[in-house]
Amino acid sequence: MPISKVAVVGGGTMGNGIAHVCAASGLEVVMIDVAQDALDRGVATIERNLGRQLAKERITEAEMQAALGRIATSTAIADGAADVDIVIEAVPEKAELKYSIFEALDEHAPDHAILASNTSSISITEIAARTGRPEQVIGMHFMNPVPVMKLVEIVRGLATDDATAQATHELSEALGKTPVEVNDFPGFVSNRVLMPMINEAVFALMEGVADAEAIDQVMKLGMAHPMGPLTLADLIGLDTCLNILEVLHRELGDDRYRPCPLLRKYVAAGWLGRKSGRGFHRYDP
Ligand code: NAD
Repeated sequence: MPISKVAVVGGGTMGNGIAHVCAASGLEVVMIDVAQDALDRGVATIERNLGRQLAKERITEAEMQAALGRIATSTAIADGAADVDIVIEAVPEKAELKYSIFEALDEHAPDHAILASNTSSISITEIAARTGRPEQVIGMHFMNPVPVMKLVEIVRGLATDDATAQATHELSEALGKTPVEVNDFPGFVSNRVLMPMINEAVFALMEGVADAEAIDQVMKLGMAHPMGPLTLADLIGLDTCLNILEVLHRELGDDRYRPCPLLRKYVAAGWLGRKSGRGFHRYDP
């Protein structure tokens, strides 16, 4: 099924990145958010990021204007999702919120539309079960920052059918991304492997094995990681890391995923990483 029109629900960090790559790849996009100011900020971010690509001569002025011209906004799912081929949801990582959004999408999106979620850790199978079309529900887990990162982790729920998986693969490739298919288990592959490493780095810091700079240097220079695990945790947001570890711990029932007490302490202090100016490292405002 050819996909030419996309709705992205949520205009935040991930939503505006997804809208950006869709529009830059020639798709018509409707960005939907509850708040008009979130939509305005989302569009401004897309404009700024396209401007950076223009400055680096990766796109032309005409391509930038054409991409911006393909982005519409809406504050209502009933309007925004009414005539699209796929919806990609990127609202905050709260299960009940996602369930209610998918119930509304199931009511308002056309019957043929695929309903995809960018969730980092919530079960696609459970989200799908809230709709009358579980075979058309799938995970499209983009990485941050979306315009830069190549991976889309395609997550098949228990009921996802082959046509939906195929169409989602093709869309990811059309966006210039590399899709990798995985099955629906807590944390999928990306966070199942990444979060225990970050958690272990926090334990190493708490136990005084080394300071934050040294832990990051060892993993960067010794293991060829582009950035150390504590710098990466600051980038993702320490509250997000804690949330994902809690999902892994609860859903897999294994103590190896127990969040480090030091991570809890930082989150309790409001030291959330880059976004709050302080995490394991300090950042200029
Ligand atoms: P964000 O907080 O930056 O953006 C969320 C947006 O959703 C906000 O603009 C908010 O106004 C909007 N929103 C809230 N309720 C809504 C509703 N009922 N209807 C429509 N819009 C609503 O969050 P984010 O970082 O973009 O994360 C979105 C999703 O992407 C989450 O599921 C997260 O786990 C996942 N994710 C995040 C990252 C990351 O690094 N930030 C990476 C991969 C996946």
